[in-house]
Amino acid sequence: MGKPTGFKEFERATEQYRDVKERLQDYGEIFTGRHDIQHLETQGARCMDCGVPFCQSDNGCPVHNLIPEWNHLVYTDRWETALNRLHKTNNFPEFTGRVCPAPCEGSCVLGIIEPAVTIKNIENAIIDKGFEEGWVKPQPPASRTGKKVAVVGSGPAGLAAAQQLNRAGHNVTVYERADRIGGLLMYGIPNMKLGKDVVQRRVDVLKEEGVEFVVNADVGGKGDNAVDPKELHEDFDAVLFATGATRARDLEVPGRELKGIHLAMEFLTANTKSLLDSNLEDGNYISAEGKDVVVIGGGDTGTDCIATSLRHGCKSIVNFELLPRSPENRAEDNPWPLWPKIHRVDYGHEEAIERFGRDPREYSILTKEFIDDGNGNVAGVKIVEVLWSKQDDQWKMEEVEGTEKVWPADLVLLSMGFVGPEHYATDAVYVDYDERSNYRAEYGKYQTNIKGIFAAGDCRRGQSLVVWGINEGREAAREIDRYLMGDTLLP
Ligand SMILES: Cc1cc2nc3c(=O)[nH]c(=O)nc-3n(C[C@H](O)[C@H](O)[C@H](O)COP(=O)(O)OP(=O)(O)OC[C@H]3O[C@@H](n4cnc5c(N)ncnc54)[C@H](O)[C@@H]3O)c2cc1C
Ligand code: SF4
Repeated sequence: MGKPTGFKEFERATEQYRDVKERLQDYGEIFTGRHDIQHLETQGARCMDCGVPFCQSDNGCPVHNLIPEWNHLVYTDRWETALNRLHKTNNFPEFTGRVCPAPCEGSCVLGIIEPAVTIKNIENAIIDKGFEEGWVKPQPPASRTGKKVAVVGSGPAGLAAAQQLNRAGHNVTVYERADRIGGLLMYGIPNMKLGKDVVQRRVDVLKEEGVEFVVNADVGGKGDNAVDPKELHEDFDAVLFATGATRARDLEVPGRELKGIHLAMEFLTANTKSLLDSNLEDGNYISAEGKDVVVIGGGDTGTDCIATSLRHGCKSIVNFELLPRSPENRAEDNPWPLWPKIHRVDYGHEEAIERFGRDPREYSILTKEFIDDGNGNVAGVKIVEVLWSKQDDQWKMEEVEGTEKVWPADLVLLSMGFVGPEHYATDAVYVDYDERSNYRAEYGKYQTNIKGIFAAGDCRRGQSLVVWGINEGREAAREIDRYLMGDTLLP
């Protein structure tokens, strides 16, 4: 274990992000890039090596990272061994170490009486040190099986599956319709949370291991870049769909057609592409400069819209949330080791407070209508406050009379989540869908109704997290290997 008395001696102290004022000036990562090794070893010493380590249980880490083991290895200054243990369960700790909300910390046993162990910081430091020291090396397979697998989609699920299948000796080709590999790791999560050099560095490792990537390959599409899914099914021994939950939830209220109202992903994707292509010089993005910005919907995507708008130099920003503000501490019906549903201040909120002196979030707000400036552009958002109450164990929402108000807006970003995957690729090969329109395939098996066609990640489970994408990609690889070889050694 860490230090037997470590949790009594040392307080939790997380690594600080870069200074808010400084980081608002650029699109670099919010992290400093420097890890204080001594500090992290002390934090590792707080781990109690619990008899039942809830951190790595089903309530905690979805990839079941061997957390107490690497906490101990870090505490005893054995970082390379810690990295080897970390890679046993997680192909991409540099992604989760940066962007995971860390359900492991939410279920850490220490959290019952004291602040949890800083598991996420330690994970991130292990992998960053691993790359710095040259410990992360491509691991091509010793021999090839001669079997071919096509992976459609290159987010965390597709990449994890590709790496596992390639290491099992299969020839893997990843098809991605975008012009860069990475799914939402590349075009979705902004640079501030996950540098694109960090994504590319891992893609390069996979390339060196022998995974083939085809970009601008729209499987099932109709344009010049189209790839026929039926041909993939015929030409490859197995096909894995890992196409994400890309259909955004829209807001069908009067005025939705006005100019200046965009889905969050139109805003975020264009910004990242323009940044990577030309450092925003090509102008191929939606600018928030000088605008009154309204972000409708919270979560990671809402925060990322706030942070990006601030960097453009917006005039004002407000973020409407339909739900009420979460409590400061766990509610009675949300006990440990469940994920704590508590109020959090994320990087974008902190930055808005720095720029405008207030948290941009307004809670219990329902959007009623978008107001026209007379020329077809959005000029405001009409909202009403709502009251939430519980009746017969069901939450009920009521509008509060007399609270209607118009907020000025010349840019509105809709960030209300995603309703499922697109179907144009899978329709062509007759894949079935579940009642939520996701590709139907049982968790743990990943086989769709069509022999040899598998599905994993957000397209199968619905909008989720990077760590769940990695979990499903790894497990789907295991099941595909079993399908191809009759047995499998993959975890
Ligand atoms: C703005 C934003 C911020 C987020 N922040 C976080 C965060 O901080 N932490 C966290 O854990 N999670 C976060 N998430 C969620 C996380 O990014 C996703 O859960 C995760 O990326 C899903 O992985 P995936 O591999 O299933 O799909 P995706 O990452 O969505 O990748 C799917 C890929 O498939 C490609 N594709 C789709 N159809 C086709 C086709 N027909 N042919 C070829 N290619 C195709 C797409 O272009 C895409 O590249 C965020 C999501 C968004 C939108
Ligand atoms: S639950 Fe917390 S204290 Fe216990 S082993 Fe995991 S990280 Fe260590």
